[in-house]
Amino acid sequence: MENKTITVTSPLLPDLDELNVYLKDIWSSKWITNNGKYHKELEAALCKYLKVPYISLFTNGTLPLITALQALRISGEVITTPYSFVATTHSLWWNGIKPVFVDIDPSTGNMDPDRIEAAITPKTTAIMPVHVYGKPCDTKRIQEIADKYGLKVIYDAAHAFGVEVNGESILNAGDMATLSFHATKVYNTVEGGALVMHDAATKQRIDYLKNFGFAGETEVVAPGINSKMDEVRSAYGLINLRQVDAAIEARHQVAIRYREALRPVEGITFFDDMPGVKHNYSYFPIFVDAEKYGMTRDELYFKMKEQGVLGRRYFYPLISTFSTYRGLESARPENLPNAHKMADEVICLPMHHELSEEDINRILRLIV
Ligand SMILES: *Cc1c(COP(=O)(O)O)cnc(C)c1O
Repeated sequence: MENKTITVTSPLLPDLDELNVYLKDIWSSKWITNNGKYHKELEAALCKYLKVPYISLFTNGTLPLITALQALRISGEVITTPYSFVATTHSLWWNGIKPVFVDIDPSTGNMDPDRIEAAITPKTTAIMPVHVYGKPCDTKRIQEIADKYGLKVIYDAAHAFGVEVNGESILNAGDMATLSFHATKVYNTVEGGALVMHDAATKQRIDYLKNFGFAGETEVVAPGINSKMDEVRSAYGLINLRQVDAAIEARHQVAIRYREALRPVEGITFFDDMPGVKHNYSYFPIFVDAEKYGMTRDELYFKMKEQGVLGRRYFYPLISTFSTYRGLESARPENLPNAHKMADEVICLPMHHELSEEDINRILRLIV
């Protein structure tokens, strides 16, 4: 029997007729980029939805990381996590900053706050943690350490769209937080991203930086880059914002089914929801203990792949093992045992708003 392929994710797509209404308006206005009507509208709508005071839209989720580091004049060394997508560390490299990796907490996958202080040197200027899989970091602890040593905190919140802790957006933690609206994320604008900040002056500075540093027709106030979002993708984003809650709820139902079926399976573990947290179910990682499960992570991963079920080994290999970074003192595997273990055991199961009961059963039959 020929089985259809089940992909790890599937993009949330706007209705074409709805999109067409916007496109006709954009076409007739002939204003297709440069802080147009829909760009402004999407910024306002996202502030409201995400419960954040200021946001600046970007053309992807990597440039806000690079721009936040620029805007805060971060230099020297930045403490970060090896357990993330490569863009986190690349953004430091693009600013001539030396990444300093610290290990993760195995109970969350996030940077272990207990290991931050030992990694601080006179050159340290900031901490760049990641809310991995949308699970909130211990932002209070991290802020206490940052305040004690006079460090900035920039969160890579690419996975944390809409995540709240006790009713407060996780995006308000730290000096700034970045989002990715890439096609593979919970909320997408095809490609896209954003930077969240606390005050109007910072937003103004970021808005200059993402538009070559232009502060007026003839005035350039900073060596900015071009990372603006256009009107077409802003409109696409406005439509998707209206259906993202339903998509997150559909993901939640998938997570419930996975947990129910996998809880009794010896050698397979996963994360439960955290108390007080509004999750976005952006990923569903499982961890394979080869000895207890009787099969290695890769054996299970390739068995699923052969049957057309495409999980992903996020985040394997660790960033600290890539050629650019592996020579760093902090990248030594013995410095990062928890991250290596998680990277060696993880499979992110298919997780999106269109998985059917039949899909879920097919996936589970391969694991249980
Ligand atoms: C997706 C992602 C990014 C990069 O976002 P793009 O929009 O693809 O540039 C950065 N950090 C993390 C953790 C991500 O998952």
